[in-house]
Amino acid sequence: MRYVIIGGSAAAIRAVEAIRSVDRRSPIDLFSDEPTPLFSRVLLPYYVAEELPKKLLNFRPLTFFEDQEVTSHLGVRITAIDPESRTVTADNGQNFDYDRLLIATGGSPIIPPIPGVEKKGIFPLKTMQDAENIYGSKGKRAVVIGAGSIGVESCISLKRKGMDVTLVEQLGRVLPTVFDDRASAIIRKRMEDLGIKVNTGERAVQFQGNGAVSSMSTEQRDINCDLVVLSIGVNPNVELARAAGLEIGELGGIAVNDRMRTSAAGIFAAGDVVETKDIALDKKSINAIWPCAVEQGYAAGLNMTGKKVLYPGSLRMNSIGNFIGQPAISIGMVSAPTETGGAEAGEAYQEVTRSSKDTYRKLILKGSRIVGATLVGDTQKAGILGVLIKKQIEVGEFVPLLMSHKLNFMEILPLIRRHSDKFSEPEYKELMDTGL
Ligand SMILES: Cc1cc2nc3c(=O)[nH]c(=O)nc-3n(C[C@H](O)[C@H](O)[C@H](O)COP(=O)(O)OP(=O)(O)OC[C@H]3O[C@@H](n4cnc5c(N)ncnc54)[C@H](O)[C@@H]3O)c2cc1C
Repeated sequence: MRYVIIGGSAAAIRAVEAIRSVDRRSPIDLFSDEPTPLFSRVLLPYYVAEELPKKLLNFRPLTFFEDQEVTSHLGVRITAIDPESRTVTADNGQNFDYDRLLIATGGSPIIPPIPGVEKKGIFPLKTMQDAENIYGSKGKRAVVIGAGSIGVESCISLKRKGMDVTLVEQLGRVLPTVFDDRASAIIRKRMEDLGIKVNTGERAVQFQGNGAVSSMSTEQRDINCDLVVLSIGVNPNVELARAAGLEIGELGGIAVNDRMRTSAAGIFAAGDVVETKDIALDKKSINAIWPCAVEQGYAAGLNMTGKKVLYPGSLRMNSIGNFIGQPAISIGMVSAPTETGGAEAGEAYQEVTRSSKDTYRKLILKGSRIVGATLVGDTQKAGILGVLIKKQIEVGEFVPLLMSHKLNFMEILPLIRRHSDKFSEPEYKELMDTGL
């Protein structure tokens, strides 16, 4: 068997580990157009903030490819896939045969067509080179465009670096797809307390500057700046797959089945480039987060070896963490759909909330199942809620306990026992066997 993997990040590396857990001998060729291997993008904001040295950004040792007997082609881009002849073509002109191919090409930051966006000093934050560009900036005044997770973390990074930071977001709140109004307001206040200027409901329309950026205009104001970070979203890198005739889903990601197989024989896909069924939303979604890429990569890798492994679906999980000094996490659905917001007829959603000055906790229930959880201030038990959402457990009378700040794993043991068929993993069996 010959394996070829396109991509060298979360999904790709986990796929290598899955393949090698079954097949130690077959050749694996891995291609990444990024020259820097094995670093975690999740940690880039910490690097930019000068809180983590470069050598601590790696999520696997630099000997990984050698240890796993993988031929790595770093800085090499795959330009075409031919599913008929089962070959890929690299930008150095070489062709490589495969029996099983994984497309783990991730996503690319969206560069908005704003006049002046090509000026020096304007960067996305995705690659190590982007991080170096921002890290190395001598600027004093930064503007971050887009208040998603990467935008908010970039603001904190640049503030910690000592810069004057302004955030511009065209929607009405920070982290608009991650948190509801209440949670978002707590995060916004925290950002403002840190000295970050937050402008929501404002659209960037022009960059000014002679070569390098010196100011940015929104519809409301001009903001002087010498550094701009663009974080308005990511598009899945599907061009190779599309050109090879693979099916692209309705959301623009590569369509895969529940074994992570694409529409072409022998070709699998995983990570930010695919759309999968979201367990909480019960519909297709592109959940472009690290844990999903890791799980999908692993499932894809095992299936590539011939094992039959089902990928149960993805679950969105976004945390702002201690980086902002205000732990906050949301899992699954952000807000219960309203009648006008598309809830299907007959579906009963309920939001249960509890808040104090700095803390906020919300569960969204669909019938007796949790389909969304938001925790701000105290996030310690988020893991338990994540498991209950993922395993689609009917929580029934346990809701008051799950809303409690003092939620203890032992207290929900009866719930786990009641659904023991869904908790077959060794760690749960062990727990249930304790007789507690
Ligand atoms: C700054 C930042 C912070 C983040 N923080 C978090 C966080 O806190 N929590 C979280 O869960 N997620 C976070 N994410 C998202 C997370 O990093 C991604 O979900 C994850 O990296 C996806 O992994 P992937 O393997 O699917 O793709 P990617 O990491 O995008 O990697 C794909 C790789 O394939 C390469 N490639 C693409 N096309 C080709 C080609 N034709 N030939 C060769 N190589 C190719 C790309 O250059 C890239 O190196 C963050 C992302 C960024 C950028």
